[in-house]
Amino acid sequence: MEYDVVIGLEVHAELKTNTKCFCSCKNESGVEPNTNCCPVCIGLPGALPVLNKKAVEQTIRAGLALGFDINRTAVFERKNYFYPDLAKAYQISQLVKPICIKGHLRVGEKDIPIDRIHLEEDAGKLVHSNDGNTLIDYNRGGVPLIELVTDALQEPHIETADEAIEFLEKLRQIYIYAGVADCLIEKGQMRADVNVSLKPKGSPIYGTKVEMKNIMGFKSVYRAIQYEIERQKDILDDGGKVEQETRKWDDDKGINFTLRTKENSQDYRYFPDPDLLAVNISEAEIDKIKSTMPRLPDELKKIYTEEYGLSEYDADVLLQFKHVSDYYNECVELYRQPKTVCNWITTEIMARIKTETGAGPILIDKTDLVWLMKNVDDKKINRLSAKDVLSKIWGTQLHAEQEAKRLNLIIDIDNNALDNIIKNVVDNNATVVQQYLTENDPKILNYLVGQVMKETKGKANAGDVMAKIKEIVNK
Ligand SMILES: [Zn+2]
Repeated sequence: MEYDVVIGLEVHAELKTNTKCFCSCKNESGVEPNTNCCPVCIGLPGALPVLNKKAVEQTIRAGLALGFDINRTAVFERKNYFYPDLAKAYQISQLVKPICIKGHLRVGEKDIPIDRIHLEEDAGKLVHSNDGNTLIDYNRGGVPLIELVTDALQEPHIETADEAIEFLEKLRQIYIYAGVADCLIEKGQMRADVNVSLKPKGSPIYGTKVEMKNIMGFKSVYRAIQYEIERQKDILDDGGKVEQETRKWDDDKGINFTLRTKENSQDYRYFPDPDLLAVNISEAEIDKIKSTMPRLPDELKKIYTEEYGLSEYDADVLLQFKHVSDYYNECVELYRQPKTVCNWITTEIMARIKTETGAGPILIDKTDLVWLMKNVDDKKINRLSAKDVLSKIWGTQLHAEQEAKRLNLIIDIDNNALDNIIKNVVDNNATVVQQYLTENDPKILNYLVGQVMKETKGKANAGDVMAKIKEIVNK
């Protein structure tokens, strides 16, 4: 039988703020366990939460970047459940009135509807040690987290693992560009829950949803979805019934298994947090955030392709990492040759910063790269020499111009001197010239150019030299 697949995503991202969501503890990772904690974020009785305004602002910013409406009044609720990493036995979250409602994200030709983004606090982290003990680190407890939920009840749906990954990658890029989150996957700063259901092709009735929670990494999300679609197909093809449940994805084994039968929101006994007032968000606040919204990937892509004439492919390469596109924009400001700048960055710079997990910092000042590009274009330095200088100054305090001068690479040979050298080379290589004239082989011409370059110690422009040789021998 043929089926329609409906995939829903719930994506958590840790917000970039200085402090936690409801206390003044630092929001930072990679520090000594249980050092960024206070009575509020470990939930000591009587401790009172105070809402971090910056977290609300960042949530609004995320919403605006995805075309959401912003609720003028948002409410915080307690989501009650017990787990060792949640010391106060409830999480402050939002159910009825989240900050952002109804947005969308474009995936291929589809505008995927998103139901909401709400603000909540993260839980701590369980660390399983080698000796079989479990330790708890509450540093992450109380870190502001936004949860985005796609609206799988509305068309169009995410229907394949590929579309799900494209959605996640685009979302990640938008969050990073908007400055709301760093989304370092390996640090768990972005995590996805996935739900999958199948229905007979064309049927208006939705199938039973199966959820897989907290899948780390997009590759795992991809595999988990593929697996779950096949698992449900097999059940339905055999005339069976899919159980509504939460299943755990085991990435090592490449399978999933029942974790628990699905809980409803009633099971969490949500109620408004009596310690927190409703948040009123004014038009003026929203406008202020709008006016400081950085340029997002889609907007930049339009500029790169339509205004600068770059190919889609090159634009995507530049946009893949925000610091690369920032650097590109800055270089273009200094040197209005968008294609040249693009060529240098997508080849020379990318080759030097690409790592297995992403991209490292760019270790050459933009003014130095611009100097090199400009002087290659002005034929003041050869491309190869320029690449040499780039290698020499990369990651150092050296500057392009000084280094090019120190290495004696600047083309300062005057035209008369160059003409003489070329004439000498042509005269001294009469047989070769004759051979070139009969065979018209570019390799022979290159040999002659090479001789001139040797004489000038590489300080002539090879293109010009070639043109001049042609001119002389064809006379
Ligand atoms: Zn705290």
